[in-house]
Amino acid sequence: MSATLSGLIRDLGAARPAAPAVSTGGQTVTFGRLDERSSRVAQALLQAGVGPQDRIAVLDKNAPTFYEVTFGAAKVGAVTVGLNFRLATPEIAAIVADARPRVVVVAPEFRALLADVGPDGPRVVQLGEEYEAWLAAAPAEDPGAEADPDDVVLQLYSSGTTGRPKGAMLTSANLLFTPRMGREFYGMGPETVNLVPSPLFHIGGIGYSLTAMGLGGHTVLVRDVDPAGVLALIERHRVTHTFLVPAVVQMLAESPALPGTDLSSLRRIAYGGAPMGETQLLKAMALLGCDFMGVYGMTETAGSVTALAPDDHDPRGPRAALLRSVGRPLPWLDLRVVDPTTGEDAPVGGVGEIWVRSGQNTVGYWGLPELTAETLVEGGWLRTGDAAYLDDEGYVYMHDRMKDMVVSGGENIYPAEVENVLYAHPEVLEVAVIGVPSDRWGETVKAVVVPRPGAALDADDLIAFARERLAHYKCPTTVDFAGELPRNASGKVLKKVLREPFWAGVGRKVN
Ligand code: ATP
Ligand code: MG
Repeated sequence: MSATLSGLIRDLGAARPAAPAVSTGGQTVTFGRLDERSSRVAQALLQAGVGPQDRIAVLDKNAPTFYEVTFGAAKVGAVTVGLNFRLATPEIAAIVADARPRVVVVAPEFRALLADVGPDGPRVVQLGEEYEAWLAAAPAEDPGAEADPDDVVLQLYSSGTTGRPKGAMLTSANLLFTPRMGREFYGMGPETVNLVPSPLFHIGGIGYSLTAMGLGGHTVLVRDVDPAGVLALIERHRVTHTFLVPAVVQMLAESPALPGTDLSSLRRIAYGGAPMGETQLLKAMALLGCDFMGVYGMTETAGSVTALAPDDHDPRGPRAALLRSVGRPLPWLDLRVVDPTTGEDAPVGGVGEIWVRSGQNTVGYWGLPELTAETLVEGGWLRTGDAAYLDDEGYVYMHDRMKDMVVSGGENIYPAEVENVLYAHPEVLEVAVIGVPSDRWGETVKAVVVPRPGAALDADDLIAFARERLAHYKCPTTVDFAGELPRNASGKVLKKVLREPFWAGVGRKVN
């Protein structure tokens, strides 16, 4: 397999020209055509004056054009930036201002989201007639430039759960661990039909899809994630593999269309990207009836760094507790859990920050040298900002974000532990635990609770409920009730938004 993205599409175009590469709706693009179209994109970019390491942005729902642009940009050494269509105009404007793309390829439906780019802004090419004319005016030959595996080819923005989205720069070498993951962990090959509902501007979309695509498999893109539509695509394309975030797993499991759908082709569902509730997981396993594999990863590691194998998903066996784990580190990387107080490896069962050393690690955040230096530290380690502990067999159990840790009277409190206890209360629908300032303790624990509809929940009762089950210092001292929790476009709870009003003026813990 080629070591670069541009080499990969050239190889697949030559080796499997008539094999289906990507389908959406009724449209299928072969590897031969994807290779050809990406050469046209490369030539059009050259004509537009684009050179190595210039940025090219794409703003669209999932479509084959994302691959044309990504491979085309890679053929001239340029970098593709995926833009999140769920963001608001000023948020997109901020990312465009940060990435400074030379060209933005945009779907007509999102043209209005792109703020007025001005005379010095990027060239905007609208998908459809304008894009086709742009390609038609360019020569068809592959420009043939050689690439280096360590060249940056993608700049993907993190979800913005803990702060502003950050542009993680990923190289071909970073990304091409995914086909290896596909072969060794998903059991994929050229015969694989891989369903991709996650957005291509996110690592869970573009990174994951390279698992099968890199091996010559067929990628089926989901443009709009509605459960009945997704199920129909699985049946129609005889999908064998997919990666789903927990919310989508739950949507499919609960869909009224599920009993009428033929899922017999489906071999494996990978899930991750956010915490998956055990009850949800057990229900989905029972209803969807294929292998399940848990994964944990992030934009900065170009995808998964752990995997919980299908064999570790046995709810009735002696190792049922593994269902709460995200599995073990992938064999080609190192993972450690570092105690935030001592800076040493945490003991088995001790919570600390996950550090990863891997060829998958980003080469840095675009335009953020200080944050890059804080994140990529000595010895080749990447600090993930995620809290977790390891068991004695090396399985990883996720806990929280380090930024969400509450330090009260010198004790470290991980909100997930408190949230798990409060979730056991029958009238709690959703809960987020945060640290708020306290004159006495530095910080103290507050629970923000969404009660079940019609519930008569009392703050004092809930605090008493926690005190029966948790050490005193971990229990909420105050409870606020809310109609819903603030979430970002990926559906993750924004604790920084919950914390902000309490810390305004205190001058600490903005994130
Ligand atoms: P930002 O970095 O901008 O705050 P983000 O971290 O949510 O946003 P992503 O890179 O999209 O951006 O998400 C990666 C994060 O998602 C991980 O660092 C981790 O906190 C969480 N995550 C990923 N997989 C899992 C999983 N299986 N279980 C629990 N959490 C997960
Ligand atoms: Mg992050």
